[in-house]
Amino acid sequence: MDAGNDEPVIHSKKVCVVGAGMAGLAAARELQREGHAVTVMEQSGDVGGQWLYDPRTDADDPLGAAVPVRVPSSIYACLRLISPREVTGFSEFQFTPKDGDGRDPRRFPGHREVHSYLRDFCDAFGLMEAVRLNTHVMRVAPIAVPMPTSTTRQWAVRSVRLAGSDTYDAAQEKEEEEEVFDAVVVATGHNSQPMLPSGIEGMEEWRGRQLHSHSYRTPEPLRGEAVVVVGCGDSGKDIALDLCRVAREVHLAANASSTEEATTPAIAKMLANHRDVLRLHPRICRLHPDGHVSFADGSSIVADTVIYCTGYGYSFPFLDTGGAVAVESDVVGPLFEHVFPPSLAPWLSFVGLPRKILVPWFFETQARWIAQVLSGRRALPSEEEMLRSVEEHYRAMEAAGVPRKHTHNIGGVDILKMYELGEKYCDSSPIEDWKKELVMSKIASMNDDAETFRDSGDDSENVQKGVQAWRGLAARANKDKTMATGEAEADALGHG
Ligand SMILES: Cc1cc2nc3c(=O)[nH]c(=O)nc-3n(C[C@H](O)[C@H](O)[C@H](O)COP(=O)(O)OP(=O)(O)OC[C@H]3O[C@@H](n4cnc5c(N)ncnc54)[C@H](O)[C@@H]3O)c2cc1C
Repeated sequence: MDAGNDEPVIHSKKVCVVGAGMAGLAAARELQREGHAVTVMEQSGDVGGQWLYDPRTDADDPLGAAVPVRVPSSIYACLRLISPREVTGFSEFQFTPKDGDGRDPRRFPGHREVHSYLRDFCDAFGLMEAVRLNTHVMRVAPIAVPMPTSTTRQWAVRSVRLAGSDTYDAAQEKEEEEEVFDAVVVATGHNSQPMLPSGIEGMEEWRGRQLHSHSYRTPEPLRGEAVVVVGCGDSGKDIALDLCRVAREVHLAANASSTEEATTPAIAKMLANHRDVLRLHPRICRLHPDGHVSFADGSSIVADTVIYCTGYGYSFPFLDTGGAVAVESDVVGPLFEHVFPPSLAPWLSFVGLPRKILVPWFFETQARWIAQVLSGRRALPSEEEMLRSVEEHYRAMEAAGVPRKHTHNIGGVDILKMYELGEKYCDSSPIEDWKKELVMSKIASMNDDAETFRDSGDDSENVQKGVQAWRGLAARANKDKTMATGEAEADALGHG
């Protein structure tokens, strides 16, 4: 605190954000707003992270065994948002429909529209000035020299410019550079590094094609084939439906011991709608060299291709903290509230680790907290208290019978916790009730019918009123923001 008044003294820090996906951009905006000097390093040739669709794949490594994978985005061509745009926008710059070439005004738009929106967001806040594209971060490590004070730390960030290519390829490394920052925010996402199921025998010997959904883009290469899709999550259902248009047979293998157990209302509708081509199976057990695939109920089929839609794991190959923060059984820890490693806080932090959360709202909330702690506006508990809180969290999960691997699955375990965290650690405005209702009702619709929920007009009266009011207010606010940016640019160029 300033001795003379109650206003906190705001300290500006030099901060490196790793990754310019939705989380990295949220971090950049919040850090910039708090007055920090921000540099965002992004290995791709554009911002957007997952939403920067890349028709290329890790074709020579279709199961994604290499760390890191070369192509960061796992988005396939047919992908549409699963959350409506009214709840998928930054709070200062809502995701309003836009007219114009290539824009997609639907409530649940396709991936290109999300990418265009992220570019619009960058333009509205001048974020591109802070972003270094084609810059792969190779190493982040605390600097082991005496610190100015015992409470601060500095970080060496080593990066390499990927001249002539926007995918990471060690063979092409060029222009290596090491810089020093006061703090590093890791925002590298968790939807790039494939996770494969354990317990399937014969994967090594199978002679058919195998790939992870990370390397799936379009169904065309599998035209006329018999394909097994492993996993019934969002990607598994999407890809199975996409394949139904061109494949000879599509076999959906659930993580369940019987088809009865696996038949959710959404899957029952998919099976009814595509009965000529789509079949459901329980857990896959074995791949046989002759092309047979056998399942937990003793049944088997012959397939050409197996696609593993089995999710992604946390991976930070560039992070060298001497074990202060590590990934173990898909848990990043120890982390206070999924953000700060207690022994390195607040100089190292993470945005975007939690799963099944409302984005970018949750990212903004985390980023605002980090920005305010770094500037001195907010304080963290002591290292011991933070560690105690992490241990308590693990104990509470164990007592509730929640497996440790769900540590970061906030929305999947208790969606209310997501809102609670946002309101607890910084002054973000609470999410309106109609938006909370909309989130819950769309999850229910999606679980009921994976094919129609995006286009069904099943909103309650309360939600309809909220959406109506949102459309008007959000469009006006964005227009003001864009005009203000245009005026600022004109001023900077000397035109009134
Ligand atoms: C198939 C699929 C469908 C999805 N659908 C939805 C949906 O409908 N709704 C929804 O809300 N979410 C969805 N998601 C989740 C989506 O990932 C999040 O919405 C959000 O985009 C995550 O943002 P992020 O910034 O945390 O990570 P990412 O978008 O993955 O961005 C991370 C960035 O870090 C960069 N990076 C990584 N390592 C380095 C390095 N060493 N150096 C420099 N840069 C690096 C990457 O290139 C990337 O640009 C989906 C994800 C997938 C894979």
